[in-house]
Amino acid sequence: MTTVQDFFDEKVRLPSPPAIALKILEAVREEENSFDDLARIVSSDPSLSVRILRVANSSLYGLSQPVDSLAQATGMIGTDALKNIALSFVIVQEFQNAPQGSFDLEHFWRRAVTAAVAADMLGAAVGCGGQDLFVSGLLQDLGVLILFLSHPDGYTTVLDNKRVSGSSTCVVEQEQFACDHTEVGYYLLSSWNLPDSIAMPIRWHHSAVEAEEEYRSAARVLCFADKISALYHGLHSNEKSSAVHKGLARHWKLSNEAIGELIDAVGEKSREILEVFAIDPGRIKPFSQIMQEANEELGELNFSYEQMVLELKQAKQNAEQLALELQRANNSLRELAYRDSLTGLYNHRYFQKVLEAELDRANRYGHPVSLLMVDIDFFKKVNDSYGHPVGDEVLVDVSNVLIRLVRSCDIVARYGGEEFAIVLPETGTTGAKVLAQRLRRGVEQEKIESNGQPIAVTISIGLAATDMSEHVLSRVALIECSDQALYMAKHNGRNRVELGVI
Ligand code: GH3
Ligand code: MG
Ligand code: MG
Repeated sequence: MTTVQDFFDEKVRLPSPPAIALKILEAVREEENSFDDLARIVSSDPSLSVRILRVANSSLYGLSQPVDSLAQATGMIGTDALKNIALSFVIVQEFQNAPQGSFDLEHFWRRAVTAAVAADMLGAAVGCGGQDLFVSGLLQDLGVLILFLSHPDGYTTVLDNKRVSGSSTCVVEQEQFACDHTEVGYYLLSSWNLPDSIAMPIRWHHSAVEAEEEYRSAARVLCFADKISALYHGLHSNEKSSAVHKGLARHWKLSNEAIGELIDAVGEKSREILEVFAIDPGRIKPFSQIMQEANEELGELNFSYEQMVLELKQAKQNAEQLALELQRANNSLRELAYRDSLTGLYNHRYFQKVLEAELDRANRYGHPVSLLMVDIDFFKKVNDSYGHPVGDEVLVDVSNVLIRLVRSCDIVARYGGEEFAIVLPETGTTGAKVLAQRLRRGVEQEKIESNGQPIAVTISIGLAATDMSEHVLSRVALIECSDQALYMAKHNGRNRVELGVI
């Protein structure tokens, strides 16, 4: 199994510790004269002394009187605190100059400094840790930086995988590198001889339950410090905030009010400390304000959601309306395709289809179907006497009589010229004969005229019905039969009905 040591031995040259950090650590390890040594070391870097004093005077330590010398500062905040501040500066400075590629180093340190402040303040609030929590908080994710600097592509993959899978950072780091940033950070800081009080909480800050008792609380404080920092510098503050509240209440029984105050104070103090670290504080502002803005955003989101639902409904209605109109248009198109333009009756094509369908149905259910073939008598004469347009009018008049006298289920079609075909569903010979006579009479009695002049119009009808045969009749057979009957009607004197012979 790969250990973090193998990982570094094989692939990565560890950054060496900043010389000044080593000296600071050495100085404080020796109990005696530690302050003198520390002061001497720090004084060698004037900008470092100035920064340390600014931190000592910041609201983080809440001194009643400002201090203006390291000696005074030590007297007020202690050697350990001073050491940690110094250490923080030199380490951050060391990595601030690292080649960063696509890594947002400033964001990293902004978040780290806020986590440091949060660790310090949360530690104080829950009575855990001591002076080391600030440095631990600051360096807890140093492993991330090391992993990124040593394997930029690999770590980019880690970030991508995390976003896609939603798994924790440690899990995706383990998948990619067989070690995670807590191990790497711990390994690095140990190799720099940082004390366990700083390095151990870092090692376990993502798995506090596994930590030795001694470091467990501190590890947990770091974990929540990072979460608080994320509220200021990460995304989805709204969702994360409730997790932080729940966690803090569960582990340390902090009241909601105390948690709110703590989070706000972390924001305020971070801004101050970030300035000392010469890091742009970014969008840091009181968390209550962030929450308010988040809620407003949520409100807007809800509003636009409602708006969207409304618009969708409207769009759906429009679409339905459109579909309806389309259906109507299609229907009338279909009608047009099946209608005769002069008379408005069904056309020949439709007649053939409908007769086929009705015969099928009749055969299936054992019902009869009748067919009337209707032809206007001596129509040629009408045309010849009154002109073709009058002939057309007469065609329309006759059509209207037929339509008026049939049942609604009967289908009247213009077969061609002055010839009509009428399909009578579920009608046998007897019924068809009655209807045929009614039609014949109806046309005969219809007052048809042109320019005030009456025109005598009669029709002849040939009738064929399925019940005339014991056998199943085809469409063609039925048409031929009725045609034959029509011929007989003409032959026998016109204005009459004849039955087909099968
Ligand atoms: P019969 O009694 O034997 O059926 O005599 P008919 O004159 O009605 O029969 P014929 O088939 O000899 O003549 C049909 C006439 O119908 C010929 C044609 O000019 C006319 N015709 C066919 N279609 C139309 C039309 O759409 N409009 C008009 N005005 N006349 C038409
Ligand atoms: Mg005719
Ligand atoms: Mg004819």
